[in-house]
Amino acid sequence: MLEITNLETVYHSVIRVLRGISLSVPAGGVVALLGPNGAGKTTTLRAITGLLDIHNGIITKGDVTFEGESLRGLDPPDIARRGIAQVMEGRRVFAELSVEENLLAGAWVQGHGGRGHGGRGHRGQVRADLARMYERFDILAQRRHRPAGYLSGGEQQMLAIARALMARPRLLLMDEPSLGLAPKIVLQVAALIREIRAAGTAILLVEQNASMALELADHATILETGRVVLDGPSEELRADRDIQEFYLGLGEAEGQSFRDVKHYRRRKRWLS
Ligand code: ATP
Repeated sequence: MLEITNLETVYHSVIRVLRGISLSVPAGGVVALLGPNGAGKTTTLRAITGLLDIHNGIITKGDVTFEGESLRGLDPPDIARRGIAQVMEGRRVFAELSVEENLLAGAWVQGHGGRGHGGRGHRGQVRADLARMYERFDILAQRRHRPAGYLSGGEQQMLAIARALMARPRLLLMDEPSLGLAPKIVLQVAALIREIRAAGTAILLVEQNASMALELADHATILETGRVVLDGPSEELRADRDIQEFYLGLGEAEGQSFRDVKHYRRRKRWLS
């Protein structure tokens, strides 16, 4: 469904961040994109959504295709209309707008060239989607007229996810949905991701919380300094000792680079 091939990106004409990465997300699948700070995960999402441009970045090589068509050169609303929605890092809701206005803003893309084209059918569909969101997220129903900025961090994250779902995406991009949330809320977010997947939406999940991401995803790609250092089924990655040491914090290697850990372990094996 989503194919990234040999993608290279540059910020401000000189800062090369992605150095030829490839990954794919199958229809209905969940893929985790992992890696330390600065690895290029958010940049990968920007290359998909078309938001690279407003950050002074460009794609210099490779391609991003969605359902067989290249997204290169399309602007963000065009890309959204094709069925891709994003939950941004840091639960960016419109703080001054009410919960309901935030949700309606999420449906905007549907009325602009998406299904329904803004007519009465479209309005009915949006109302039905809104009702479904309130049924699913009781807390949002209770706070529907309250400014989103007054919600707690966990409630804002639920709103950010519900808003993205209002666009009826076929692919949902999630940038660190567990960041800064209490463990109880992280579990709720994880349960929600399972539900979204069960409803047939594919997900590309960017996470620093590797253990949660590997639990949820079928497949994972690990980036480091703009390159893919590991890629495979989540189950295999969870069983990999290097991953356990480096990403799951189960060994002595915490805080080092994944590549260093691999070299260190290879050397150890070689010498023993
Ligand atoms: P994090 O978890 O910290 O968000 P990340 O893996 O998502 O990390 P990116 O945000 O994609 O990484 O950043 C990758 C590199 O690109 C970093 O070195 C960052 O400083 C640089 N970068 C990001 N945005 C810009 C920009 N607009 N201009 C210049 N450099 C940028």
